[in-house]
Amino acid sequence: MPPSPAKRRIVLLGATGSIGENTLKVVAAHRDRLELVGLAAHGRHERLAEIAREFGVRHVAIHDATAFAAAQAAGAFPAGTTLYQGAAGLSELATLAEADLVLVAVVGTAGLEPTLAAIRAGKEIALASKELLVMAGQFVTAAAREHRVRLLPVDSEHNAVFQCLEGHAVADVRRVILTASGGAFRDWPLERLAGATPQDALKHPTWAMGPKITIDCATMANKGLELIEAQWLFGLRAEQCEAVLHPQSTVHCLVEFTDGSVLTQLCPPSMTFPIQHALLHPERSPHGTEAALALGRREFSFDFRPVDLARYPLLGLAQAAMRAGGVAPAVYNAANEIAVAAFLAGRVPFLAISAAVEHTLQHIALPTPRTLADILAADAEARALTHAHLSQLPAPR
Ligand code: MG
Repeated sequence: MPPSPAKRRIVLLGATGSIGENTLKVVAAHRDRLELVGLAAHGRHERLAEIAREFGVRHVAIHDATAFAAAQAAGAFPAGTTLYQGAAGLSELATLAEADLVLVAVVGTAGLEPTLAAIRAGKEIALASKELLVMAGQFVTAAAREHRVRLLPVDSEHNAVFQCLEGHAVADVRRVILTASGGAFRDWPLERLAGATPQDALKHPTWAMGPKITIDCATMANKGLELIEAQWLFGLRAEQCEAVLHPQSTVHCLVEFTDGSVLTQLCPPSMTFPIQHALLHPERSPHGTEAALALGRREFSFDFRPVDLARYPLLGLAQAAMRAGGVAPAVYNAANEIAVAAFLAGRVPFLAISAAVEHTLQHIALPTPRTLADILAADAEARALTHAHLSQLPAPR
């Protein structure tokens, strides 16, 4: 093993999203330990050019072809910048010779190929895109094992579990319980949910995040996806992964061992904490951007309540998909993405999201996937089926 370099050199896939912006805060606060060497985003090239100038980044990939052409025409990147285009460009960036670690924070399936390419190139992976493990956990974890690459979880709950499991054997774990805020409708009367609007659903009680994930918190599809993600990250059985309602979003997981002891991890509800942990791992360093919890100096109380599956049917559907295995989690994810997009566009009511996912899971074939192509085919079929189902529904009043 070569000696580790003084700075960990990072490629950031998804630089302009919510995780990307929080990552920039962490890197800016730890410039002695962290260096950005590559940036990628879907299309926001003006913001990418700003980040490239601020952090002195010379390698930049733009996924969208129109945005790539606009970026070239604008000439806003510093002289000496290499621009990479499209899906192939993201994979090139993910295997950059000077990179040590690739942080994957791109939405949806666009991160799959670059992540696999980075693993094959032996890069460390910090994983924020939960869809990758939900869709292709079997293939991503097999590649990571083969190339001896550790997957460092960036999602707050999984980062918490990772911290609790250090120094422990997974065989000694009875249950991993992920905490959930319950989202915008946690305290709404059930009968009001039928009339819930996108504006209502986007009012998250504790976390500030992008619109898709905020809707997924209101339905708890996000927690469902996270249970599936946890199963793959930590090598657990489906029935070992559970969720609990925790309105304060300060305790991020509960790991129960076979002897009845429970370990947990606490920090304020800000993504900068798990991002810093993953990027500096195994080192610890003062948090550069935010204050820690003032435990013992002011009053705190932490509540834990069982999840009501009548309020959050998408959590139960995720657990069923996880137990079914194969392509079922990919189908669940794809159907949910389509249904959430339709809800955000005002085309269908809130309760149509869970109904559409259930309908698609019931009406699609669930073959055992042999290759990544089988998963992508099931993903495409699930999207088409969900579109067809939703297009028959009347628009909300
Ligand atoms: Mg999370």
